[in-house]
Amino acid sequence: MPVVYSAENPAEAHLCRQFLSSEGIESRVDGEILWQARGDLPPNESTNPTVIVSDEDYETARALIEHFEQKLQDGRELDTWSCPHCAEDNPGNFEVCWNCGESAPAAQQTEPL
Ligand SMILES: [Zn+2]
Repeated sequence: MPVVYSAENPAEAHLCRQFLSSEGIESRVDGEILWQARGDLPPNESTNPTVIVSDEDYETARALIEHFEQKLQDGRELDTWSCPHCAEDNPGNFEVCWNCGESAPAAQQTEPL
C-alpha cells in the first residue's frame, strides 16, 4: 500500500485520514507508535506517521492531498482549538476533532475577542 502523505505528527495524520474519508477514500495511519516511541529524537522522515491508501486510490488521494495541505497551511495562521470531548488540539479551520470527531466549540466558529 503506497504512502500518500507523511505527517509531522499523529494529529496531522489523522486529519488527513479524516479528510480523505470525507472525500470517499479509505486510508490508514501508520507509524504512530514509532512516533510516540521516539521520545526526544528530532523529527525525521522515518519516524513520521504516514497515511497510506490502496493502489487504486493513490492517484486520486494525491490530488486531494494538495487541497489538504493548503487547508492545513491556512489553519496554521489561526488559533488551534481544544476539543471539549477529548482535549486534543485541532487546527483552527477544522470543524471536527481529528481524534474523536467532536464538533468544534461554537465560540471557535464566530467572534474575535
Ligand atoms: Zn476530540
